[in-house]
Amino acid sequence: MTQVIQSPNLTTIPTFKALKCKECSAEYELQAIHVCEFCFGPLEVSYDYDALRRHVTRESIQAGPNSIWRYKSFLPVATDNPIDVGTGMTPLVRSNRLARRLGLKKLYIKNDAVNMPTLSFKDRVVSVALTRARELGFTTVSCASTGNLANSTAAIAAYAGLDCCVFIPADLEAGKVLGTLIYSPTVMAVQGNYDQVNRLCCEVANTYGWGFVNINLRPYYSEGSKTLGYEVAEQLGWQLPDHIVAPLASGSLFTKIYKGFQEFIKVGLIADKKVRFSGAQADGCSPIAQAFREGRDFVKPVKPSTIAKSIAIGNPADGIYALDVARKTGGNIESVSDAEIIEGIKLLAETEGIFTETAGGTTIAVLKKLVEAGKIDPEETTVAYITGNGLKTQEAVQGYIGEPLTIEAKLDSFERALERSRTLERLDWQQVLV
Ligand SMILES: *Cc1c(COP(=O)(O)O)cnc(C)c1O
Repeated sequence: MTQVIQSPNLTTIPTFKALKCKECSAEYELQAIHVCEFCFGPLEVSYDYDALRRHVTRESIQAGPNSIWRYKSFLPVATDNPIDVGTGMTPLVRSNRLARRLGLKKLYIKNDAVNMPTLSFKDRVVSVALTRARELGFTTVSCASTGNLANSTAAIAAYAGLDCCVFIPADLEAGKVLGTLIYSPTVMAVQGNYDQVNRLCCEVANTYGWGFVNINLRPYYSEGSKTLGYEVAEQLGWQLPDHIVAPLASGSLFTKIYKGFQEFIKVGLIADKKVRFSGAQADGCSPIAQAFREGRDFVKPVKPSTIAKSIAIGNPADGIYALDVARKTGGNIESVSDAEIIEGIKLLAETEGIFTETAGGTTIAVLKKLVEAGKIDPEETTVAYITGNGLKTQEAVQGYIGEPLTIEAKLDSFERALERSRTLERLDWQQVLV
């Protein structure tokens, strides 16, 4: 694609140059393609880092909008009017009570449970993918989703006035289905797991000329995850942490946080530093964790069975790249049981007031496991990425939390109930003590 440089103002100079194969380095024009014709490797967007080094400063970023689009020069869109629904710049919370509970000195929570508009990190990747889809002339957008992606694609397509048809596995949580239907897209609930949904979507993408955010638009889509790296660096005062823990589904998010950190170093926005990357999966779908444990450099597909449905991808597209990042940075990839995931959700809620979904419970449970195994040092500045909201996966914790005390609208009824609950609490404690 030929882009004309119109003025020395960076906002009109596209800094993204080509699509490049991650395996054989073959280059392609910036179209809606995602696989190398020669070796079938995945394509990735490449940039003019010299131009970025010359034009981007901390100040120019801070003068930008309070959203992911403050990093527009590092994203693969040419327009000056990206689809900006306030996505990104979510809180980086310094943890006190969870940190103390785990014995960590400096723990931060990157809280994408409150990302806009649909309360998961997927709003980042979709904002970028749909902006690019519009530039490439697509009028219908689509995706193969584990839930959150369908929410984001439907919501942001509604805002942008694009037609939308999403594909989900038929057994998703009610909150994820409702949270898609409300935007009135066409929703295909496929009888099968995510990997089967994805296979079907590859066929549809080839014949219908739609923009599938995570298939033919995947090289653009995945770049959106880099903003989770940029924001943490900026929010830590233009510094990198020592260790990050993030969930792995396809592995894309994990590798793009790494790319984001590397790019900021490369263009001189932050000092070079080694950051350890640790990944989190659920035991019931842990193909990348298994490969890590067994020292393999290939990933064997599995059939998912876990409550952590948003990260239940049995055949992860970026699995080998996630393995590489964890190994070369001295990190780990661990998995935890569904029971530990529920405990992780409750632990984060009780200590930090953040209600995350199963993917976040997985991250917290793996964080705990790595600390207990001595694989995260208490002195390390550690960032745990919380990528989704617990209100969407209420089924997961049903039966594992308390119940309200139903009372009459009378003071004595309240007092009796309070006394009962205090007695129960004491009994609980006695049981803990014996
Ligand atoms: C999609 C998703 C992920 C991981 O995504 P990948 O980039 O495919 O690894 C993590 N957390 C949540 C909540 C998600 O929806």
